[in-house]
Amino acid sequence: MSPVLEHHENPFSLHGRVALVTGANRGLGQAIALALARAGADVALVASGDSNETAALVQALGRRALVLRADLSSLDPIENVVADTERGLGGLDILVNNAGVIRRADALDFSEQDWDEVMNVNLKSAFFLAQAAGRRMVANGRGKIINIASMLSFQGGIRVPSYTASKSGLAGITRLLANEWAGKGVNVNAIAPGYMSTDNTAQLRADEGRNREILARIPAGRWGTPDDLGGAAVFLAGRASDYVNGAILPVDGGWLAR
Ligand code: NAP
Repeated sequence: MSPVLEHHENPFSLHGRVALVTGANRGLGQAIALALARAGADVALVASGDSNETAALVQALGRRALVLRADLSSLDPIENVVADTERGLGGLDILVNNAGVIRRADALDFSEQDWDEVMNVNLKSAFFLAQAAGRRMVANGRGKIINIASMLSFQGGIRVPSYTASKSGLAGITRLLANEWAGKGVNVNAIAPGYMSTDNTAQLRADEGRNREILARIPAGRWGTPDDLGGAAVFLAGRASDYVNGAILPVDGGWLAR
């Protein structure tokens, strides 16, 4: 049974919590790491590149940051990433599986390499990182896992077969883990960003026709920004979401409502 919230306790506070965010050096992952830090969490920052800029921003918010360099295209670094976070920051309460890649080509021409590269980072490593973190969280009887899904967790997309497979798979894995761990104090949920302005979508925004089509379909009338995800991430990382399990929360300016 979940303990009753003290009436003075802010259910959105992450003070005293440790988060691990993958893909934290730029884009959505950087904004999520900063939102968690602003809410009080210390943050381990994982990317294959260096996350020093994010670390400086986390520290400027008065929180601790741990920079971990790891290439999540294989499972090799997973155990170390989790162990280093625990050793460096004293625990692991929140995992955000945000690292992701995309490859674009017609289905008729799509290569095995483009299939494997995307599936390995977006789905395989995300699952095994959740498993490694989940072992600790289940043992502690407490934890929050947030997977970064996509509109292509709900829709087919076009010219991105492995991306669609990975993000649809990640939605399924989010529900599966929620089913197994909800009763053990671990919440597993996902955020499905809509069309957000980052490196991941630079190609789409540079294509005038596609850009116009996409904008015309977004009820909010604009591309999302990385900061638009902060509130959803803090909600799913904190006690406010203790009874939310296996949800895939769209943050999409209304795209799916159309
Ligand atoms: P981005 O700007 O391209 O950033 C991708 C992040 O993933 C980087 O931090 C990158 O770090 C990390 N990453 C990629 N491959 C990695 C690897 N092998 N090992 C470790 N880290 C790796 O993309 P974004 O737009 O912020 O996307 C973040 C997540 O949101 C992705 O899962 C993406 O699919 C999802 N998403 C984005 C949108 C959108 O509109 N932008 C919409 C829906 C979902 P390094 O390059 O340093 O490794």
